[in-house]
Amino acid sequence: MSAKNMLDNAIENFNNAAVLLEKEYDKELLDILRHPGERTELQLSPLLSDGKIHIIKAFVVKHCGAIGPCKGGIRMSPNVTVGDVSALAMEMTWKCALIGVPFGGGKSGIVCDPTTLSKLDKQTVIRSFSRNAHNHIHPLIYVPAPDMGTNEADMGYIKDAISHSMGNATTQGCYVTGKPVILGGIPGRREATGRGVMLTVLEALDTMGKSPKDVTVAVQGFGNVGAAAAFELFRMGCKVIGISDVNGAILNRNGLDVAALQKYYLEHGSLQGFAGSKSISGGELLEMECDVLVPAASGNQITAENADRIKARIIAEGANGPTSSDADRILEKKGVFIIPDILCNAGGVFVSYLEYTQETQQEQMTEEEVYERLSKRMRTRFRHVYDFSRERGVNMRQAAMLLAVKTVCDAKVARGYLP
Ligand code: GLU
Repeated sequence: MSAKNMLDNAIENFNNAAVLLEKEYDKELLDILRHPGERTELQLSPLLSDGKIHIIKAFVVKHCGAIGPCKGGIRMSPNVTVGDVSALAMEMTWKCALIGVPFGGGKSGIVCDPTTLSKLDKQTVIRSFSRNAHNHIHPLIYVPAPDMGTNEADMGYIKDAISHSMGNATTQGCYVTGKPVILGGIPGRREATGRGVMLTVLEALDTMGKSPKDVTVAVQGFGNVGAAAAFELFRMGCKVIGISDVNGAILNRNGLDVAALQKYYLEHGSLQGFAGSKSISGGELLEMECDVLVPAASGNQITAENADRIKARIIAEGANGPTSSDADRILEKKGVFIIPDILCNAGGVFVSYLEYTQETQQEQMTEEEVYERLSKRMRTRFRHVYDFSRERGVNMRQAAMLLAVKTVCDAKVARGYLP
């Protein structure tokens, strides 16, 4: 998505909530939240294995730290812009407030294509980012995590780079989440976002009096979020009939065995050719006949161009910003129930919070404890947003945004104004 679109979308979502809050809060307070508090552009210059120095741009954006240190992942993509990172940082502020963790919103971007790098070169780029962004990363300032293009191993290198630069064996407190468990990560973080998506879908079905066994699901994306969401929904008894990745999609109207598909994907690196499935295009997947559609790839996938052809009754936004504001209006008229990104995919940052507290208190949590807390939090927050949307007569996105922006405004008012 272009910078303009992604940021415009985030600002439009904010404006829709802000107009309804103008009577409650100062206009200036709302104006402050319309833009990030701080945007930094960094120049990385790693020496890669081709023997050359590569100049790579990176961004760190802190949107708002009223509730706590800024939290949000590192996106690594050749197309990521400072506008995208600003939009994503802003969404993190709302997500953290809505899911009830004591963090503000932040995000980083590294303008580089991770798919073209060897494992070692990727590690070098991540270490270069850690060194250059060191002043911004701290348990009380900004705590990164994985996002598109980065993973658990990368978070381990960040922790290592920071502890090394301090001359210590480890860091005091949590500088980064989503790390390998052996380095202070938490069991269940990798699956957390996908599990959270599943939990919100089950709640949505419950409000409609439907059982998971009665519904068909299509999932766009087979990365960390999409693969876990597909597996969890399959595990709960939903019929997952379509899944896509960057190279296309597969369909089986009788239901795909997602556990077997995960193994197949590991072996073949592709969904294509999976037993009993038929190839379709990524576009067809979005528009296919199904009850639940889970966009879990990149942003701006459901737009004014294709929204009218979407047949799903529920859209569960596993990705950040998959639906444009124009598409939102079309889908609302069609009566589609949207579980908005700041609620639907908040399981990741919630479990990041558990990792943060675990590391701060030098404790250990089991996967069962993590799952139990995640499950309880996702269900109660879903109900909270759902009840509020009924009470106020607004849709789920508006309800989620209203609750989140109100929480952040209350924190800012409680802090008082600095000169
Ligand atoms: N990148 C994830 C997100 O967009 C996780 C952020 C985190 O855990 O800090 O929610």
